[in-house]
Amino acid sequence: MRDFSQDHHWLSINTATVRKSRGQDLPLPQIIEACVARGIRAIAPWRDQVHAAGLDVVSGLVRQHGLQLSGYCRGGMFTASDAQGLQAALDDNRRALDEACELDADCLVLVVGALPGALEGRAAHKDIARARAQVQDGIAALLEHARAQHMPLAIEPLHPMYAADRACVNTLEQALDLCDAIEPRSAGAMGAPALGVAVDVYHTWWDPKLQQGIERAGRDQRILAFHVCDWRTPTRDLLNDRGMMGDGVIDIPRIRGWVEDAGFAGFSEVEIFSTQDWWQRPHEEVLDTCIARHRSAV
Ligand code: ZN
Repeated sequence: MRDFSQDHHWLSINTATVRKSRGQDLPLPQIIEACVARGIRAIAPWRDQVHAAGLDVVSGLVRQHGLQLSGYCRGGMFTASDAQGLQAALDDNRRALDEACELDADCLVLVVGALPGALEGRAAHKDIARARAQVQDGIAALLEHARAQHMPLAIEPLHPMYAADRACVNTLEQALDLCDAIEPRSAGAMGAPALGVAVDVYHTWWDPKLQQGIERAGRDQRILAFHVCDWRTPTRDLLNDRGMMGDGVIDIPRIRGWVEDAGFAGFSEVEIFSTQDWWQRPHEEVLDTCIARHRSAV
């Protein structure tokens, strides 16, 4: 396992972590400058932040500073209640993919979607199996475009508490089954697959099959991203109360060990959504804390 205690060479900042500073929106160019000033080599920006700043501006900054993108957040949300909605989702995913290419991201992260309308509090139906079928069809359709563009797709299984409204893919095993169904790997397959997974400790730490899932993912070279934060007890909000590494109950070094044993050698991407705590602090303090905890708790 790599030694992270001496530097932050393998730290990436998911830019949602500092999307607010002292409670105020922080534009992506300022986030980038603050990361660069601290010797942080990689980021994973969100589409809304990129759009607000302008894709050309962001891609110029990324190139100017030689930044790497551990991922682009995000594509997905494949489900819909009618054919028009499904087509709109696919069109939007193609645009996300093109943006990821323009930014030269390592992968496009997919939060796959769930019951259509549920995110707005008005689920169109209760058929989660139908949603899962739409997700499979949507990824399969996007994969052709992804292959042509050489941009890997990373399915991110989300914690089951999001099964209704954000992602009906909820375990690593389920995500890998989906990968195998859409893009089968024969034994001894050459070259990296175009479809893989993002392993986020926040979503997966509780899973009794996590270690075997990571081993399976590694065998097929499907680990495309590794996201870290911590699980606070108590958790005060289902979406926006993620903890800083070391402040919760996730044994992050153990999981990183499994991921690295499975062949992953990329960035540890810090992804913290925190309305009540970290988004209230100055972003300089948040980034400095990420660096310190990357060394001591990841
Ligand atoms: Zn994540």
